[in-house]
Amino acid sequence: MAVSRTEASTESAADPGGLPVGSLGGVGPALVDALARLGLHCVQDLWFHLPLRYEDRTHLMPLGDLRPGMRAQVVGVVEAVEKGFRYRPQLKVAIGDGVMNTLLLRFFHFNRSQAEQFRVGIRLLCYGEVRQGAGGLEMVHPQYRRLDEGAEVTLDECLTPVYPTTEGLGQKRLAGVVAKALQRLPAEAELELIPPSLCAECGLTSLREALLYVHRPPPDAHVDQLSQGRHPAQQRLAFEELLTQHMSLKRLRAAVRERRAPAFGGRGRLRKRWLDALPFKLTAAQQRVSKEVAVDTSQPRPMLRLVQGDVGSGKTAVACAAALSAVEAGYQVALMAPTELLAEQHLRNFRHWLEPMDIAVEWLAGKQQGKARKQAMQRVADGASIVIGTHALMQEGVEFARLGLVIVDEQHRFGVQQRLALRDKGLEGELVPHQLVLTATPIPRTLAMSAYADLDISAIDELPPGRTPVQTIAISNARREEVVERIHVACMEGRQAYWVCTLIEESEQLRAQAAEAAHAELTHALTDCKVGLIHGRMKPKEKQAIMDAFKLGELSVLVATTVIEVGVDVPNASLMVIENSERLGLAQLHQLRGRVGRGAVASNCVLLYQPPLGQLARERLQVMRETNDGFRIAEKDLELRGPGEVLGTRQTGQLSFRMADLARDAHLLPAVQRVGEQMLAHHSERAGRLIERWIGGAARYVNA
Ligand code: ADP
Ligand code: MG
Repeated sequence: MAVSRTEASTESAADPGGLPVGSLGGVGPALVDALARLGLHCVQDLWFHLPLRYEDRTHLMPLGDLRPGMRAQVVGVVEAVEKGFRYRPQLKVAIGDGVMNTLLLRFFHFNRSQAEQFRVGIRLLCYGEVRQGAGGLEMVHPQYRRLDEGAEVTLDECLTPVYPTTEGLGQKRLAGVVAKALQRLPAEAELELIPPSLCAECGLTSLREALLYVHRPPPDAHVDQLSQGRHPAQQRLAFEELLTQHMSLKRLRAAVRERRAPAFGGRGRLRKRWLDALPFKLTAAQQRVSKEVAVDTSQPRPMLRLVQGDVGSGKTAVACAAALSAVEAGYQVALMAPTELLAEQHLRNFRHWLEPMDIAVEWLAGKQQGKARKQAMQRVADGASIVIGTHALMQEGVEFARLGLVIVDEQHRFGVQQRLALRDKGLEGELVPHQLVLTATPIPRTLAMSAYADLDISAIDELPPGRTPVQTIAISNARREEVVERIHVACMEGRQAYWVCTLIEESEQLRAQAAEAAHAELTHALTDCKVGLIHGRMKPKEKQAIMDAFKLGELSVLVATTVIEVGVDVPNASLMVIENSERLGLAQLHQLRGRVGRGAVASNCVLLYQPPLGQLARERLQVMRETNDGFRIAEKDLELRGPGEVLGTRQTGQLSFRMADLARDAHLLPAVQRVGEQMLAHHSERAGRLIERWIGGAARYVNA
């Protein structure tokens, strides 16, 4: 029955990809629900639900050939079993190959019968990711199976795709549904949305074949190529995905451009007054970028401009100049920062600069409650000139009288959606505000063109004069005492130091505890220096008091969590120690280090690490020692980590491509852009279907 119904619907459907997943044989309501949680609603969604990776069970890896980072299938004999408890229960099973090579299997979740099953002498077949443990190589929670005495291991004939999935939906089941969906793949001509002439021009291979290949690689598939995503079939899909992303951002931008924004006329009277009072002269780069911004905002179309500038390049001054043209034209400005500490610093800067000019600067942050918040909101609704805050500024209920310019600092922490939310705070009638986005994480060009195709880009490529590059060294934690002594000497010379504690733990409480411990240690070791402490669990007032004391030189050493990552500005601080630096990414290390080297004195940064160092960590620390150049660091970061993390969008999933990898596939971008222009101009309907295919529901923001 079910079979014949399925066949009938296939025949009658003009577009087999558009049918609901429930139309596939054997897919009942529970499975439909599970698939929906993955965003898979119709048959076509399954075609494009691509494997994350492949498991290679086509052969066995000798234990002696294992290296950290590999996924491998191995056989070994259990040599020792230990049940222990450190922080949490764990089960350790050592397996060996009889010729000195061993591998530790580590389990944190296990039941009694599972634990009892591992006995010395039995043979296990395991599959998992190899990592470097303290005492040698290990696998955490490998898949495993007991092998009977003398039994042959049966190896798979082809690679097993591993799909992104959700709780309650196993790989086998999901793979089964995908296979059913693939039976409905139409002929090439029908499936292909990129016009044939453009396909030919770019030498694109068949989409149909590409899909069939990646979902079920044949037995002779080139494993290395496939696991690196470099197989032509994968490259073909990556091309299509990048093209989709590019076109959807272009459309978004075009939609915004069609709206109207207030043109800030004005002669720059306020800006001139401010510049005259400023204790420094803007650098050539600051002047150039300010001008680009001023030209944009003098137009009746919304500006969408990203200003890139390395840490300390003086983005705040550029933002202030822009804000003043809005104020002069009678419009309001909203400035948002990703952390309260950074927002507070902007508040102080702006008040210091603008209050003498009788320009009101309001404060709106998340933690502000009750009456103070109500009053601030009222003043914003009444037209207060400048409003500074965290993303609380975007929350419901904040109404602006005449919002003309939105400035977003440290863009890499905000997503496209958030940018749009604030823009929709709107203006009277049809007008939307101009947008200026500041980022301290220089974004490599290739990435910028793709991820920010909706923005114009300016670069502040020059630091204010008189900065000396920071000398960076990496030191093992075993030599911690020497480092403490070094701080002691520096403080005796009147220098100031940051001691940054980093913990990967997600909880603010654990981070605070680590900082408290370091604070106690340093207070004890540096008896004749004053040591302060700042972390995210403190109240804004307390944080401010500590920062003020440090700024005034009342404290010699400031122990901090990464709350100081962005924006803190204390020119006299010239030494920074970063604990567990091996755990941080390059962008974060660069941001942190940017807190020193702000004055004329020579500065140092000590990267303390916990040995042994993994390969990636070693490379990161090496890059930090070699260069202070944010662009080089960003390029390297992209190479080492991939774009999702460089842009800080991994959590929001915005740039998590299914197939493409911007670092690996950058060579595709010129063709992607060419084809994108062509399709948007001449094949708009196909472009829309392509976006629907790859982005689906998420494409909604294109029309926001
Ligand atoms: P960032 O680009 O990291 O946000 P800031 O705007 O915080 O940098 O500026 C860093 C420091 O440099 C601040 O103390 C600021 O006052 C100072 N500064 C900015 N522009 C100049 C300039 N043209 N000359 C001298 N100092 C400057
Ligand atoms: Mg800044």
